[in-house]
Amino acid sequence: MLPVNQAESIILNLVQPLDSDRDVEIVDLLTASGRTLATPITSKLDFPHWDNSAMDGYAVRFADVKDCSPENPISLKIVEEIPAGYEPHLKIEPGQTARIFTGACMPLGADTVVMQEVTQRKGETVLILEAPKFREFVRYRGSFYQADTTLLKPGISLGVAEIAVLAALQCLEITVYRRPRVGILSTGNELVEPHQPLKPGQLVDSNQYALAVAVAQMGAEAIGIGIVPDERKILQETIAKAIGCTDFLLSTGGVSVGDYDYVEEILTELGAEIHIHSVAIKPGKPLTVAKLADSDCVYFGLPGNPVSALVSFWRFVQPALKKLAGVEKEAWKPEFVTVRTLQDLHSNGKRETYLWGKLNLGSDGYEFQLARGSHSSGNLINLAGSTGLAVVPINETLISAGELVQVLKIS
Ligand code: AMP
Ligand code: MG
Repeated sequence: MLPVNQAESIILNLVQPLDSDRDVEIVDLLTASGRTLATPITSKLDFPHWDNSAMDGYAVRFADVKDCSPENPISLKIVEEIPAGYEPHLKIEPGQTARIFTGACMPLGADTVVMQEVTQRKGETVLILEAPKFREFVRYRGSFYQADTTLLKPGISLGVAEIAVLAALQCLEITVYRRPRVGILSTGNELVEPHQPLKPGQLVDSNQYALAVAVAQMGAEAIGIGIVPDERKILQETIAKAIGCTDFLLSTGGVSVGDYDYVEEILTELGAEIHIHSVAIKPGKPLTVAKLADSDCVYFGLPGNPVSALVSFWRFVQPALKKLAGVEKEAWKPEFVTVRTLQDLHSNGKRETYLWGKLNLGSDGYEFQLARGSHSSGNLINLAGSTGLAVVPINETLISAGELVQVLKIS
């Protein structure tokens, strides 16, 4: 049994990221959400593009107003009104001002904006009642970023803020990595599809659905291969066929030590090198990770128990899928947070143990609330609603209520 960290690095070393020249496509900005940027994005212009006002108020020369106060207001002549989107025509001379609104261009001659709340309008003049700070409330051209700087680096995931930046930069066609192709199959004679009637001894294949959604949530393409019976020949043919059209192939079940657990034998017959057989993690001990010969496809034989399959996915497949997808290295690692546990967390100490529950905001920051009910790897039900997996390290048997615990965030 490999320690979890070792298994993680073996897996990451097996994965080659998609190629930044070959494995890319151009997508419309509005459909780019969740995709991974493949080329650097550079601005052509300074931002702000023009000196502009951050307030509704009056554009002034600082020298004119620097000594004013409520007792000693200064009167300035309003020579122009500058709404947003309007190009000013006049230069502000000593004793003059322009009425200006948020986002509007600063007129020449003015260097500071006085907000309207500290002014008093008198027809064509205005009284300035408080001295502003020099250059206050002006967003100067290029003060946020300058032309020709790289604003978004390859490898970032495009979310709401990144899409907004791309829109601001007038980038409407975005080069992103293609979606990784992830094949998903379930092994087991006992399995039926959710729409099929259940006969005695049968079980619904929930893993296929869980993994399809988990893969899709990561911006990858889930290729459903369906249920494959525990029959060596059919399983071998299915795997051999799927390898050719997938970057990762995920199977569940058939990787334990039972008489019908054929996956490793079949992979060996297909010329694959098995890099991982089992990991010291609970749930999820049986885990087969193999690299297929003459192919870039990486095979993940996940355990069949539904919770084990998902824990293995979150802990091992997700970081690997991020690396494959071209995501920057800093973002591969699973997201752990350190919080206080509200309940005692038990383990037998033999394996790194993952217990599921909720991350709740308490009066003293986030807390971990252990899910009620059985923490059996076959009990999917209380995994629903869970947002984190609390980790009891190997060789530890208890993290007591009130102590700090590392929690892997899950979605
Ligand atoms: P296995 O790893 O094939 O021995 O399966 C371990 C346990 O997980 C057994 O109880 C299986 O019935 C169950 N199981 C296997 N595959 C699935 C699946 N796709 N969906 C739900 N349960 C499964
Ligand atoms: Mg099985």
